[in-house]
Amino acid sequence: MTSAGGPPPSTDEIRAARQLLDRAERVLVLTGAGMSAESGVPTFRGSDGLWKNHRPEELATPQAFARDPRLVWEWYGWRRDLVRECSPNAGHRALARWAASRDGVSIVTQNVDGLHEAAAAEVAAEAGAVGPDPLRLHGSIFRARCTECAEEDTHDCPVDTRERGTLPHCGHCGGLLRPAVVWFGEGLDPATLDTAFRTAGEAGVCLVAGTSAVVQPVASIPLATLRSGGQIVEVNPARTPLTHMASHVLNGPSGILLPDLLAVPG
Ligand code: NAD
Ligand code: ZN
Repeated sequence: MTSAGGPPPSTDEIRAARQLLDRAERVLVLTGAGMSAESGVPTFRGSDGLWKNHRPEELATPQAFARDPRLVWEWYGWRRDLVRECSPNAGHRALARWAASRDGVSIVTQNVDGLHEAAAAEVAAEAGAVGPDPLRLHGSIFRARCTECAEEDTHDCPVDTRERGTLPHCGHCGGLLRPAVVWFGEGLDPATLDTAFRTAGEAGVCLVAGTSAVVQPVASIPLATLRSGGQIVEVNPARTPLTHMASHVLNGPSGILLPDLLAVPG
């Protein structure tokens, strides 16, 4: 885990942050890779982020895919296998329960692992309570998009990376498929981003969990809440560029702190 950002929060600090959330008519929850760390999905910047000695920043780029699509698909195949073995953790579950139990919660995630959706499905199956669908800013590793015609669909079958010809190709035009995720150096879908910023501007509180808040423009989403008079609550075991702007900083893992903060079982 990254360097500690301070002592764990006291019961009083958690209660004060909870009151703020309870009083807010609308809350935007912004999550990042740290949210899934306790499920066993490595963060990119953590010590276990390497694959075959490649750094994610070297593989998750359009240039890397253009140079060696087999290598990039092999990495995504490995990540899919890894994520398939993972389950939502107590943080995902608490958030899903809480979001389904009250009005006015929106979840915006940078995660591509589908674990928010899996937690929401668990809660819906067990309690019949349906929460909001998370807005996925960076796509999903279980979807693919055509590099020629841009057709996108679910893609969860094994990928044969022996040769370029065995890589997945488009059923419509025969073009090479790529993972439907946003890579470093690529722009986000403008409509999705617009929705995220608008929702943040309407929220009384932006709860930020498990993101290093260094990748723009996503790191600026909580600032839209601040600009319209709202406040930030941050959950992270390390300091981030948002920490000094947050009204409440809960220092620690989201799997432990979110059930406490949201006062729901994880
Ligand atoms: P990041 O790897 O840059 O940062 C992760 C953050 O999580 C750090 O601030 C770290 O201190 C914090 N963290 C670590 N353990 C935590 C825990 N148990 N509880 C709460 N916080 C914890 O991740 P990022 O900021 O999300 O940016 C990297 C990009 O890579 C993302 O935009 C995403 O698209 C992609 N990514 C996704 C996944 C996933 O879907 N699970 C995993 C790795 C990377
Ligand atoms: Zn196509």
